[in-house]
Amino acid sequence: MIQPFIIGTRNAGAFLHAGAAILGQGGSALDAVEATTRLVEDNPEDTSVGTGGIPNLLGVPELDASIMCGRTLRSGAVGAIKGFKHPISVARRVLEECPHVLLVAEGAERFARMMGCEAGDLETETSRRVYRSFVADAFEHEGIDESQAWVVEYVRSQGLREWYARLADDHHGTVNVQAMDADGNVACAVSTSGTALKFPGRLGDSPIIGAGNYCDNRYGAAACTGRGELSMRASTARSLIHFLAEGLGVEAAARRAMKDVHALSSYGAMNCLLMDAHGNTVSATTVSGRESIHWFMDCHASEPQRRVGINVTP
Ligand code: ASP
Repeated sequence: MIQPFIIGTRNAGAFLHAGAAILGQGGSALDAVEATTRLVEDNPEDTSVGTGGIPNLLGVPELDASIMCGRTLRSGAVGAIKGFKHPISVARRVLEECPHVLLVAEGAERFARMMGCEAGDLETETSRRVYRSFVADAFEHEGIDESQAWVVEYVRSQGLREWYARLADDHHGTVNVQAMDADGNVACAVSTSGTALKFPGRLGDSPIIGAGNYCDNRYGAAACTGRGELSMRASTARSLIHFLAEGLGVEAAARRAMKDVHALSSYGAMNCLLMDAHGNTVSATTVSGRESIHWFMDCHASEPQRRVGINVTP
């Protein structure tokens, strides 16, 4: 019998206690991953998730999140949602209350209001500063044209693909949290503000079930961070679970999925977090020389355990 446990990406390590406590009291994997993800969303130091996330090209934080239940394969997701503190909880309401899987933009905001989800300002001094310095660099002046006509001019002058390829990899990220509870149920939560300075309306992989998030009690849970366009094209999270179902171990499955991403020969990097139904875990990155870290905590442990994953480079 496996002890209930919870795992998360690098930025979730300090918050796994919350989910582990829920699991330790017999709570569900879904509640555990949601509770931990909410704390990451609340962390103003994290510039890629929830409050403090770097905004889009217009200076507006737009958030994506999804949550999936491995017992029923029910899922809830929101994309490009603005002005709500906990997109993961809006996604959870979609899973619980909504006949749909994915709601975006104004529709997601309308639904969040209907469900009484907490609204609030997501900007911080740091996120505003990063945005201001981007505008200053782009235009060599400090002022932001209120009409925002400059965005069209800017992107045209750069070329959309070239501009996106050049966006710094250090200003984006995502949180992935996965858990198994005492009933053997698995859940997976993903939340992000997406690629910093992204084109308005751009959805990444995080709210796309099968790309950035997937789980199935029979096999395990999988989620991604990195340039979401890659995992959307390669269906990475679903593929990872498929590879487990085919009999590969977590490490072999992660290698294979990351190799598929390399085969796209595109810009940006991809990372994944994977656990199987026996409690084995791995994280992987396509970046050579970067340590791939994830955190593991069983429900009786006093501290999370730092685990080093693998690098998969061509
Ligand atoms: N996967 C996220 C996205 O593409 C961002 C990231 O993890 O860096 O929106």
